[in-house]
This record gives sequence, structure tokens and C-alpha cells, in this order.
Amino acid sequence: MRLDLPTLFMMTTAVTVTVGVLFLLSWSQTRRERSLAVWGIAHIVGGLASLMLALRGQIPDSLSIALANALMIGAYGLIWCGVRAFEGRRLRLDWALAGAVIWLGACAVPAFFESLAARVILASTIAGLYCGSGALMIWRGRGEPLVSRYPALILLATYAALYWIRIPLAVATPLPVSIGTASPWFAILAFAGTLFSVAIAFVFMALTKERAEREQRQAAETDSLTGIANRRALVAGAERHLAVAPAALLLFDLDHFKLINDRHGHSVGDAALAAFCQIAAPVLPPEAVFGRMGGEEFACLLPRLDERAAARVAERIRAGVARFTHPDYPELRMSVSVGVAAESQIGGSLDYLLRRADDALYRAKRTGRDRVVTSEEDPLPVAADIPGTSRVGGRSRVRSP
Ligand code: GH3
Ligand code: MG
Ligand code: MG
Repeated sequence: MRLDLPTLFMMTTAVTVTVGVLFLLSWSQTRRERSLAVWGIAHIVGGLASLMLALRGQIPDSLSIALANALMIGAYGLIWCGVRAFEGRRLRLDWALAGAVIWLGACAVPAFFESLAARVILASTIAGLYCGSGALMIWRGRGEPLVSRYPALILLATYAALYWIRIPLAVATPLPVSIGTASPWFAILAFAGTLFSVAIAFVFMALTKERAEREQRQAAETDSLTGIANRRALVAGAERHLAVAPAALLLFDLDHFKLINDRHGHSVGDAALAAFCQIAAPVLPPEAVFGRMGGEEFACLLPRLDERAAARVAERIRAGVARFTHPDYPELRMSVSVGVAAESQIGGSLDYLLRRADDALYRAKRTGRDRVVTSEEDPLPVAADIPGTSRVGGRSRVRSP
């Protein structure tokens, strides 16, 4: 099969520039993910580089070799820069362009410019460094679990490897000095360029889409004031755990919270709610499911703990809350009442556990607040039917999720 190389390069240019414009369009819709804009510019610059490579022999070598490769190296620099932006680092455009500047500086030296091997070695070293460093950053950012990280990592690492393999090859089997557009190298270059730009565009778009979806999912499951799980996520997480393990449930209700709002204002009340979460969270074991039920009520499911062990956890939180002071409001004090109930069987009902914890919490309120009460202390009949009426201090009963 014979391929018309100028056509192939024109195709590469058209595909790469189109992908670049699509990146920019995607970025302009939300303008949140800067990396999309950087990757868009990288593709357009890469497309221009292909165009100039296609014109080899028709335009001066200083353009089709020196400038075309400078643009290609710059495009890889910008891809690297976009990965930095994606990982939340400083853009470092200076580093992204440094490769192209080094290349142009070397091209000004006639001995370098005349040597194809020297040119291949330098261009491949720099492009490989940008790809390799991009792959490393994607790997280091794996704390943010995005599935598309792995194809992106493999793609960038493969390109780094391909560029670096060219270095010993250029030394061992020198290419013909007068490499023309008829050379198979050009076909390989054009194919590789098109494949890279399409594949990298696909995985980068997938990465940004996956991140946006993850953020939306997190926002839908998070209580915006305290940053912990909201009721929906808490119930879902607790039910998941109850299906596979015994567990205990803590139900918290901050005492006389209305007074805190009345005395200090709603914003101090908000800060107190956040402070409660900061006190409680470090005390909880990693597998605990902690969330805000609503208002000044919180709950926590503790997998595999019985009532006594759970009550000890609750007591540490209660004591921490009782010690809480606010530097700007020295007279502000908080206390919390906690109801504890446990389910010793796998597959227990969250609804039933909540009702028992709620009854224990009611007893904690009735007997003076600022205390932990377990459901066992005064067992309820199993089939206790609980009216949904208002309780102490206007605190309403926990309802079925
Ligand atoms: P008790 O000890 O019986 O629980 O008394 P309480 O005052 O804590 O209970 P009550 O149910 O009477 O009042 C709860 C208060 O919590 C009333 C409401 O204004 C306040 N509250 C609920 N959600 C928020 C919130 O998001 N921010 C602030 N600042 N206050 C809230
Ligand atoms: Mg309360
Ligand atoms: Mg309440």
C-alpha cells in the first residue's frame, strides 16, 4: 500500500487541530478545568507542527525542521503543563516552553543542525521527558481514584518509552542524512502523531469527565456545612454495612442548641456544628459511617462493635465536646447527648436500630443531657411501636429513612 505522505500529514494536522478546538470548546463551557484549555492549545500547536513537517522540501529547512520540531516539542511541553494543571499544580509555562527554546538554541549550531542523529537524540530526549514526567504526575495523583488515570498513564509512559528507544536506534543505525518525505519514517511519524493526538484527547476528556462526575456525586452525598455525609449517604452506607456485619449505632443530639443560636447568632451555631464534627471524626474508627441526620442531630454506624464498645467511643466524643471552647466566645459551651444501640446479627434493620438508639437518646435527654445512654440499660419491647410525636426540647423522633 502506498500512502501519499503530504496527504497523511494534512490529515494529522486536520485531526489534531480539530481535537484542539474541541478541547477549547469543552473548556469554554465551564472554564473550571484549566487543563482542557492547555491541552487544546497543545493540540493546535501540534497540528501546526505537522503542517510544517508536511511542507518539508517546499519551505526552507529552518521552518520544516527547526521550527516544526520546536512546535512539536512545545506541544509536548503543553501536554505536560496540562497534566500539571489537572493535578492542581502551578502551570509552569516557562518549563513547558523551555524544551522548544533548548531545541531552537541547538539548531542555531550548524554542526548540530547538520546531524540527523543529534537532532533525533535531542528532540526525542526532550519529548520523552515531557511524556515521562506527565505519566509520573498522573501516577502520583492516584489518591484521587479515577479509572481513566491508568490508560492516560500507559499512553504517556508508552510515548516516553518510544521516544527514548529512538535514541539508541539513532546512534546504532544512523538514518540517511537526506531524509525526505518519501522516507517510511515520515509515514510512521504521521501515523504516530495522529494516534497520539486522538488517543490522548480521548483519555484526557475521559479524565476530566470522570472527575466532574465524581465531584457531583460527592456533592450530592455531602452535607455542605460540615463536610460529612448527609442523611441520604449515611443511610445508604449504614445499610450496606448492616447487610454484611453486626454493628452499633450512635445517635447524637447537641444539647440546648437553640440557646447557642439565640445567644451567639446562627453563624456561631454553624461553626459549633462543624466543630462537633471535627471533634467526633478523629475519635471514630476508619470504617465508621458518620453523617448528619439533619439540624443538630448526627449519627454514626460502627461496624462490628457491640453496645459497650460503641458506648466507649460515644463517651470519648461526649467528653471532647464538653471540653470544647471557642477562642472568640469564651463563654460558649457545648454538650451532646448520645443514644447507643447495637445489632448483633448480620442483616439487621437500620430502621429498628435507629428507633432503639432514639429511645436511648430520649432517656439521655430526660435524665439531664450531656450523657451517653445505651438501649440495653432499659430494654424496650422488640415490637415497640413508637409514635412520631415531639419529645424533650422539641426534638422530634428519628423517622424511618
Ligand atoms: P435539646 O437539648 O432538647 O436537643 O434542645 P435543642 O435546643 O438542641 O433542640 P431544638 O430541637 O429545640 O432546637 C434545635 C435547634 O437547632 C433549632 C435550630 O435553629 C438549630 N439548628 C438546626 N439546624 C441548624 C443549622 O444548620 N445551623 C444552626 N446554626 N442551627 C441549626
Ligand atoms: Mg438538640
Ligand atoms: Mg434535635
